[in-house]
Amino acid sequence: MRLPGFIDSHLHVLGIGYFESIVDLSQCQSIEDLINLLKKYTNRPMIIGRGWNQDQFSEKRMVSKNDLNEVSKDIPIMVTRVCGHVIAVNDKMLELANIHDKSKQILGGHFDYESGIFSEKALSLIHRVIPKPNKELLKEYFLLADKILIKNGITAVASDDFCVFENSYEEIIEVLKELYDQGLMKVKITEQVNLPLDKLKDFIAKGYVRKQIHPKFKMGPLKILADGSLGGRTAALLEDYSDSPNEKGILTYTDEELFDLIHLADIHGMDTTIHAIGDLTTKQAIQTIAKSMKISHRYEHAHAIIHAQLTRSHQIPLMEKYNIGAIVQPIFINTDIKIIEDRLGYRTNDVYLFKSMYNKIRLGFSTDAPIEPVNPFYNIYTAMTYKSIKYPNEKSLNENQCFTLKEALDSYTVNNLDFIYQDQLDSNDYILIDKDIYHISTEEIKDIKVLKTFIDGEEVFSTN
Ligand SMILES: [Zn+2]
Repeated sequence: MRLPGFIDSHLHVLGIGYFESIVDLSQCQSIEDLINLLKKYTNRPMIIGRGWNQDQFSEKRMVSKNDLNEVSKDIPIMVTRVCGHVIAVNDKMLELANIHDKSKQILGGHFDYESGIFSEKALSLIHRVIPKPNKELLKEYFLLADKILIKNGITAVASDDFCVFENSYEEIIEVLKELYDQGLMKVKITEQVNLPLDKLKDFIAKGYVRKQIHPKFKMGPLKILADGSLGGRTAALLEDYSDSPNEKGILTYTDEELFDLIHLADIHGMDTTIHAIGDLTTKQAIQTIAKSMKISHRYEHAHAIIHAQLTRSHQIPLMEKYNIGAIVQPIFINTDIKIIEDRLGYRTNDVYLFKSMYNKIRLGFSTDAPIEPVNPFYNIYTAMTYKSIKYPNEKSLNENQCFTLKEALDSYTVNNLDFIYQDQLDSNDYILIDKDIYHISTEEIKDIKVLKTFIDGEEVFSTN
């Protein structure tokens, strides 16, 4: 059956492509497996892998320098553990990073020259020598991501790509423009402009605000990262974490710093989309937007909070009052379901209030891919059940917040239009799926497959 193409209102296109290019080691059952898999990539100038887990290995030990030397002594290799906080590297990588047995340790981290294992802040000693991708490689990443998006029935996105690597924002714009001009890039992108204050000033001065670079590619709102994550206990809370007394998470900006960013954007007619997970961060974002509006008198805007996971019920009327939207990811429940109650205790029923928000404010769905998979049917299933696909035995997080199918589909299409600066859906952007979504069980929705995807009437993906 036919459906409109999905719009994902916050993800990282470049990040999706980069993630795909990294060797996936998560299925390795032994170090021998891992070595054999990595050997297949020795045609690359540098090998980067991710996802290994020693608990899964028959050897029950961490990957070491010697294992990686077996893969290659000439190509630098870095493999990241599943948690992202530990890496192992080979001798060639140590040489490239100029690390030897007498190198100084780094505060907040540790490395062991003999084993080639680095942890926490010491990762930066290696990360800094990984070259920023050249234009060709950036193109490769974008096109890899494009394939994944259209295969999943996504026809338009709002994407945050300026801060993935050290490349300048103008280089990223140029790369995408070339890909669109050549007709290679298919999915439509509204850029969520992720820039620090000095670069934002430059961006505004050069006339990039809301600029249409190509019919399929334009500059969108300013993206601001205002706190961390629930998993890392870095989302900023009004009250302590239930599983860590005296800990409330971290605000990225002071009130003044956040105001400077938001207000500079606001007075130049630029909306902001603010990554805010904790309820303290939500409070800070609302207050700062309200303060800016008082001066700018720009009441017709599309400011929004991205994530809003721990936004509390008493804060929703304030978002309504100041016309602040929410870009949410029901699919986060998939992973978070294991930790929500531990982290938040008595607040558990007053968070992930996406349906309450849907009833009051502008709300759209997104996946934040590559953090979660880009598949819209997983996201719709999670929104409709508040259950996890990864942990199917866990009970629904909150049955009162479940979306109907129509509400979920709207949140993935028309409700996202404001976030990509479009008045209506493009009727020539549509998909064909393998099931009649209106006449199957909710359980079956997560298994729906996209058969064909059309953008501007052009068939850009087909299963056969
Ligand atoms: Zn994100």
